[in-house]
Amino acid sequence: MPSVNENFLKLEKNYLFINIAKKVNAFTSAHPEADVIRMGIGDVTLPIAKCVVYAMKKGADEMGVKETFKGYEDSGAGYDFLKEAVSGYYKSFGVDVPADDIRINDGAKSDCGNIVDIFGDDNVVLITDPAYPVYVDTNLMSGRKVIYCDSNEENGFAAMPDENVKCDLIYLCSPNNPTGSVYTKEQLKVWIEYAKKNNAIIIYDSAYEAFITDENVPRSIFAVEGAKECAIEMCSLSKTAGFTGMRCGYTVIPKELTVTASDGTEVSISQLWGRREGSKFNGVSYPVQCAAAAVFTPEGLKQTRENIEYYQNNARTIANTLDELGIKYTGGKNSPYIWLKCPNGMGSWEFFDLLLEKAGVVGTPGAGFGKNGEGWFRLTAFGDKDRTAEAMERLKKLLSE
Ligand code: PLP
Repeated sequence: MPSVNENFLKLEKNYLFINIAKKVNAFTSAHPEADVIRMGIGDVTLPIAKCVVYAMKKGADEMGVKETFKGYEDSGAGYDFLKEAVSGYYKSFGVDVPADDIRINDGAKSDCGNIVDIFGDDNVVLITDPAYPVYVDTNLMSGRKVIYCDSNEENGFAAMPDENVKCDLIYLCSPNNPTGSVYTKEQLKVWIEYAKKNNAIIIYDSAYEAFITDENVPRSIFAVEGAKECAIEMCSLSKTAGFTGMRCGYTVIPKELTVTASDGTEVSISQLWGRREGSKFNGVSYPVQCAAAAVFTPEGLKQTRENIEYYQNNARTIANTLDELGIKYTGGKNSPYIWLKCPNGMGSWEFFDLLLEKAGVVGTPGAGFGKNGEGWFRLTAFGDKDRTAEAMERLKKLLSE
């Protein structure tokens, strides 16, 4: 009989969103007439830009013609045309990321989770709390020691390092899911100095970079000096260009990033990851990579920007309502997430139930993202404009009762 990886038994029984779906299903079964507005899951709702769809169709047509048919992609790291397009995108906001430091993937979740394969199980992993659950789950699955760095009301949900704490791997996410908070250049400098002092590597998740509007907030950790010697960056087209159902993202591992193995040899992290991918990943489909490249054309950027602005308007609608109600929150400005303090001292799940049962609005209980999320609640701006406005009217009504 095979034994199982018993680390899995230490995880929460269900992924957070399964628990939420169960509660919502129970409510809608009991109240089939209820008009529920879903502002919980961070999935986009607007269709993909026309020029991107066109590029995907063209790529699919090429697969049906002998002369242009594509089988396995040689490297599995992504076609040059897409890596060059991503590199050009970085350049457009002043960051130098060469195309050969980029690997194309099927979305940031896979790489955020799989990157742990190349690091020893004895590493101590520092994760800001609350956090996107994938960071914690995937490290617990491989039995690593996870320690936490508190993001809370006092630090505006932007945790900073404690000089006395030692670690080997650090997960940072900016703009943050779930809190919507962002790191400034100065704050990232502090993290980079801390990582270097500890010989640690930062795994930087910039999945929401396209939502950044403030000049002082970097869209990449590589905008900050010294990052190339201590950071890996993961990004995605899911929220930038509506690719949640298409599956395409990219990971940047600079050539400069090395670690010393136990026998004293310098090991290139990029080579190690390439080796892992060579054995376990055969690349992203050609039509999807064609679509992804179209995102970075002038027309693609213009069309996708319109969708982002639509979501940003929703974020403003939510933020304005919370301002009116005098409810504290972070996010909403450089992020599609609004992280609010549950009114009247309520717990996260208590507020979830109240909002669902009395207002028919679904959000995400902050407690599901870590201990510092208790008493906080996440709303997303990815919904329909009128439904978002309607949800805010219901919230106002609920809290005036
Ligand atoms: N990173 C963060 C912080 C996210 O919130 C998400 C998705 O919600 C992802 C990564 C995964 O995105 P993808 O769809 O590219 O797998």
